[in-house]
Amino acid sequence: MAASSNSSLSGSSVSSDPEDYQPPIWKSYLYQLQQEAPRPKRITCPQAMESRPKYYGREFHGMISREYADELLVGAEGAYLIRESQRQPGTHTLALRFGHQTLNYRLFYDGKHFVGEKRFESVHDLVTDALITLYIETKAAEYIAKMTTNPIYEHLGYTSLLKDKMVHRLSRGRTEPRRVTFQRDERISSPLVQRTALKDTPEKQCFYEKIHNFKVHTFRGPHWCEYCANFMWGLIAQGVRCSDCGLNVHKQCSKLVPSDCQPDLRRIKKVYSCDLTTLVKAHNTTRPMVVDMCIREIELRGMNSEGLYRVSGFSEHVEEVRLAFDRDGDKADISASAYADINIIAGALKLYLRDLPIPVITFDLYSKFIQSAKLPNAESRLEAIHESLLQLPPAHYETLRYLMAHLKRVTQLAKDNLMSSENLGIVYGPTLMQPPEQNALITLNDMRQQKLVVQLMIEHEDVLF
Ligand SMILES: [Zn+2]
Ligand SMILES: [Zn+2]
Repeated sequence: MAASSNSSLSGSSVSSDPEDYQPPIWKSYLYQLQQEAPRPKRITCPQAMESRPKYYGREFHGMISREYADELLVGAEGAYLIRESQRQPGTHTLALRFGHQTLNYRLFYDGKHFVGEKRFESVHDLVTDALITLYIETKAAEYIAKMTTNPIYEHLGYTSLLKDKMVHRLSRGRTEPRRVTFQRDERISSPLVQRTALKDTPEKQCFYEKIHNFKVHTFRGPHWCEYCANFMWGLIAQGVRCSDCGLNVHKQCSKLVPSDCQPDLRRIKKVYSCDLTTLVKAHNTTRPMVVDMCIREIELRGMNSEGLYRVSGFSEHVEEVRLAFDRDGDKADISASAYADINIIAGALKLYLRDLPIPVITFDLYSKFIQSAKLPNAESRLEAIHESLLQLPPAHYETLRYLMAHLKRVTQLAKDNLMSSENLGIVYGPTLMQPPEQNALITLNDMRQQKLVVQLMIEHEDVLF
């Protein structure tokens, strides 16, 4: 196989010290093949064709036979023409010479030209891409099937050439746990310690897993896969790119990339309405800063406020706080001098949780929680809720745990703020839990259980989390 050697990258010779970091040797075999691929040769029709659709050019030959098309194309790799089908008039066929035979494709147009998934501005582009794809996938079928077996991805953060990104992947791969663990002894037990924790927010690092957000991407200029180090061939849609961190890989490689997306702050435009895990990964925090900052502010000056979380703040001011977080992130000013009314801060926190694209209690687990609340026996109910909690994505779990500990403290001052765990259940049920299908009837039916789930999580926060 003509693959360029990359022995310096294999196995234990890779140093994890960023100083010793050597740029990877990109594998150029598929790139060279693409350069060798036959170029399109348009076979034009000498006569003016009246039946020619306006989106085709002189390569349109009207209703000629398959055999005649074959004769026109023979001998020139990459030669192509378009003919109207004799068997199905009104439909069009792209006849393309490749591998010493004529290939016929049903050709479509809906504003763009296509024969399969990829859509092209011009027939010329379509043929260019088809020739590259045919050439590479015929010549290098075996190579492509094996190109993912020795990925360079795990070893290096190399490609983006962002050093910190690289260091992050290197160091994490070596020693740190991939998931948050929730061991009993890690729990903060006394309210006093909890308060300190609230002030310091000591955990600045988080090890949540996050899947990449891959979307089909058209690369301008040559690009190499950051998983297998091979060239991404084709004219358009050569691979996929993660919209959160910018990782570029082959479509087939994307299925093998681990869930270690580290979102790039420049790609994350907002705080509100951003996926919870994406946000905390981007900001490298344990929980969304909105949750931490609002709770800190409320614990500082609002715990005795009558109707806390039930009374609405002036909605224009709540909206202002949202904009401040979207704009300034953890520099947003939510102090008493900016917003004297604590209900505005409470409202901003509820709005944040309600606007999450995936609620804190995820769509996947929604019905599990609802079913748990329906169990008749109190103990099995708690048991089932506990089970469901453990299945939440770590960042969701951590956010919920923190919020419930806070709400518990709110209920401990219920004689002042008049907020019992039941009242808070009513307020927070629909904020934390939304059914996967928005259906007014389901929502109405589930309201009792939503309330109960939250109420139980507050009351039994110490054993559930
Ligand atoms: Zn990513
Ligand atoms: Zn690849």
